[in-house]
Amino acid sequence: MKKKIVIIGGGGAGILAAISAARNGADVLIAERMPLLGKKVLASGAGRCNLLNETLDASFYNPEAAKIVEQVFRRFGKEDILSFFREIGLWTYAEEDGRIFPLTDKALTLMDLLQAVLARLGVKSQLNFSVQSLRFSGGQFIISASSGETLHADKVILAAGGQSYPMMGSDGSGFKLAKDFGHRIVEPVPATVPLISQDVWCRVLEGQKIRGRACPLLDSKKVMPWIEGDILFTKYGLSGTAILDISDPISVALNRRLTKKAMVALDLVPFLDEASLHREFERRIARGMTGNSIVAGLLPPKFALVLQDFLFPNKIKQLAGILKERLFYISETKGWNEAEFTAGGVDVREIDPLTFESKKQKGLYLCGEVLDVNGRRGCYQLAWAWASGYLTGLSAAH
Ligand SMILES: Cc1cc2nc3c(=O)[nH]c(=O)nc-3n(C[C@H](O)[C@H](O)[C@H](O)COP(=O)(O)OP(=O)(O)OC[C@H]3O[C@@H](n4cnc5c(N)ncnc54)[C@H](O)[C@@H]3O)c2cc1C
Repeated sequence: MKKKIVIIGGGGAGILAAISAARNGADVLIAERMPLLGKKVLASGAGRCNLLNETLDASFYNPEAAKIVEQVFRRFGKEDILSFFREIGLWTYAEEDGRIFPLTDKALTLMDLLQAVLARLGVKSQLNFSVQSLRFSGGQFIISASSGETLHADKVILAAGGQSYPMMGSDGSGFKLAKDFGHRIVEPVPATVPLISQDVWCRVLEGQKIRGRACPLLDSKKVMPWIEGDILFTKYGLSGTAILDISDPISVALNRRLTKKAMVALDLVPFLDEASLHREFERRIARGMTGNSIVAGLLPPKFALVLQDFLFPNKIKQLAGILKERLFYISETKGWNEAEFTAGGVDVREIDPLTFESKKQKGLYLCGEVLDVNGRRGCYQLAWAWASGYLTGLSAAH
């Protein structure tokens, strides 16, 4: 008799788990609360789907997950993921920075190919099925939906994702389902998220985007190296790629109440060190340049509005210091609706790193973002979903 496996969640992890389990002889059904599979796959990379990176290893993930990530990528790494996609018909290309996309630049191409494989393998999908409770009783799992419908299974794969962008389906209910079996949940917090600051500069500079460097500070200590990227000033605070990339330690500290004092340091002139910037100002003053022209050509004109008090010959040392390290107090993050990922989730020490089976409940498997595995921006989340999903399906089928 074929093993009946129900997969809760039809995102990247659930779909790959379904394919590998079905290829290995299991009778598979995906229970998905949304009216279609793969909503986040379709949204990823702004619809282009940044599905992988040329460089893939554990250093791109949270330290708590490093061991399991390393083991997973050793068994199903970049080349295996690429071969899997090539084999189902997806052609890809890599950008100069190593990010890999479908040749068509469309996430939809990838989803169409995955759907075709699911259909060929006879994987069934029960859509609009929002799992509310999961129990193990009489030797089988009973999966109940909010609609009152129930499903039965020999094994269950929990691939319900994290908590970010809840309108795309994953709203943290997977954590509750795991908790009901006694799993410890590392407090989930929004990750890769814009930051809220009451600083007047943000309101004055609203809409201004520049290339700069950002660094997070907790209790006045820098907790990460400077990251270069876009900095966007907004009515509510700070956004842009550099801010998203340094947002995690701030979000963790504020949301888990580890500190109230979180700041971001911005280097607004990353192409000059402080001494060279000071010399540049001295040269300008010597040429008779005054007022707004002291910063003209170095920063967009709008910056003169926030720098008025420093655009004087006797203030240029202070001006250079401020432009190289201006501090912004952060009060909150923009929260789940604008966070790309979730930091936190089911404690990875409570699953078998080789089989992905729960150490709390035999026959229950967990994979993807529901676990406390948090990768950097730029494909590492999906890479984890693909690899952990594929290996979980494989072991659940055996
Ligand atoms: C806007 C956006 C852009 C992104 N861009 C990228 C990118 O370019 N590269 C990258 O690597 N990552 C990106 N990510 C992150 C990435 O999409 C996710 O980390 C990854 O898809 C997680 O896969 P998953 O299968 O574990 O979870 P999900 O994709 O979240 O899938 C979980 C599925 O479970 C379903 N579900 C949840 N609870 C229940 C329940 N109770 N009952 C039934 N079904 C349920 C959900 O509806 C969902 O379909 C992006 C995320 C967002 C929001």
